[in-house]
Amino acid sequence: MSFKNFPMVPRVVYGRGSSQQVEEIVEPLRKNGYPIIYFADHCFKGKKLVENIPVKRNDKILFIDTTEEPKTSDVDQIRNELKEEFGKVSGIIGYGGGSVMDMTKAVSLMMNNEGSSADYQGWDLIKNEGVYHAGVPTLSGTGAEVSRTCVLTGPERKLGLNSDFTPFNQVILDPALTHDAPKDQAFFTGMDCYIHCIESLNGTFLNAFSKSYGEKALELCKKIYLEKPQWDDESNEDLMMASWHGGMSIAYSQVGVAHALSYGLSYVLGIKHGVGNCIAFDKIEAYYPEGVRDFKKMVEKFQVEIPKNVCSDLSDDEMNKMVQVALSLSPLWENALGKNWKEKMNEKTVRELYEKM
Ligand code: ZN
Repeated sequence: MSFKNFPMVPRVVYGRGSSQQVEEIVEPLRKNGYPIIYFADHCFKGKKLVENIPVKRNDKILFIDTTEEPKTSDVDQIRNELKEEFGKVSGIIGYGGGSVMDMTKAVSLMMNNEGSSADYQGWDLIKNEGVYHAGVPTLSGTGAEVSRTCVLTGPERKLGLNSDFTPFNQVILDPALTHDAPKDQAFFTGMDCYIHCIESLNGTFLNAFSKSYGEKALELCKKIYLEKPQWDDESNEDLMMASWHGGMSIAYSQVGVAHALSYGLSYVLGIKHGVGNCIAFDKIEAYYPEGVRDFKKMVEKFQVEIPKNVCSDLSDDEMNKMVQVALSLSPLWENALGKNWKEKMNEKTVRELYEKM
C-alpha cells in the first residue's frame, strides 16, 4: 500500500483587491534581467484588468486564445517563441480561467523540459522543475488553482501533465476579478466545482481528507446555487473558496462518470470542460441520483441552456473514438464504480449514455 504524497500550493493570497499585490510579489523574482511573462485570457484585451497588470522593463503580456482548450501544440509554440525572444524568463503569471491556468502551468514546465509537451502527458513524466509560475483566477470552479495537473489536448489523447512540479508556486485569490465573467460561462465553470464534489463524495476512493474538503465545497455550492435568492458579492467569494476546496478534495480522491464522459465530448467535439460536464451530468442520474436532482434545480434557477443532441450527427468512427477516450480513463471509473468497474461499464453502455446527450 502506498499513500499519495502530493505537493500543495505553498503560497496563497486571498482577498478582495489582493491582485493589486502582484507587483510586490513578482519583484523579488526577477533574475538577471529576465522578464516576467503575463498570460491573460484574450477576452481581457483592452479591458481594465490588463491596465492593472504590473508590466515593467522587458516584461510582456501574452494574450491566450481560449476559444479552444489548450493543446500540446499551443504550449510548444509559446515555449519556443519565449525561448527565442528571451532565452529565459523569470516567471509566468496567468490571469484567467482554467484554460489560462493550465497553459501557465504547462508552459512554465516546458521552459525547462526538452521536446514536446505531448511526451509528458501522463503521470510523473516531467523531469525538471519548471520556471516560477503563479495563478490569478478570474473564473471560479475548475480547481486548476490547486491541482497537480494541467490538462492538454494532444495528438493522441486529452490528458494532463500530472507531476509534483505542476502546482503553482503562488496563487492570488481575488474575488473581485470574477465579477464580470459572462453569466453562462461562470455557471458552467461553477458547476465543474459542484460536479467535482459530487463525484469525489460518491466515489470509492473517498477518505476523511477528501471528504472534509468536499463537504465544505458542496455546502458552499448549495448555498450559492440553491439557497440564496440571488447572486451577490459574497457568492463570488464563496465560489472561489468552493473551487479551492473542491480541488483539494479531488487531489486525494478522483472525479467520476461525468468527467470521463466529458473528456470524450471534449476530445471529439471540442466541447469545453465545464459545458461537457453539464451535458454529461444531466444524463447520469442513475449514478448520482441526488446530485443530478439538485443540479437540475440549479440549471432551472439560473436559466442556463444545456446544449442538447450534441452526439446526434456523429459518424461511427467519431462515436467509437469518443467511447474509447471515455473508457481509457480507468482511475475515474474505478473511483465511481469500484475495482470491478469493467463488469459494470462497457462500450455499449457508454455509447447509450452518449446517445442521450
Ligand atoms: Zn473538472
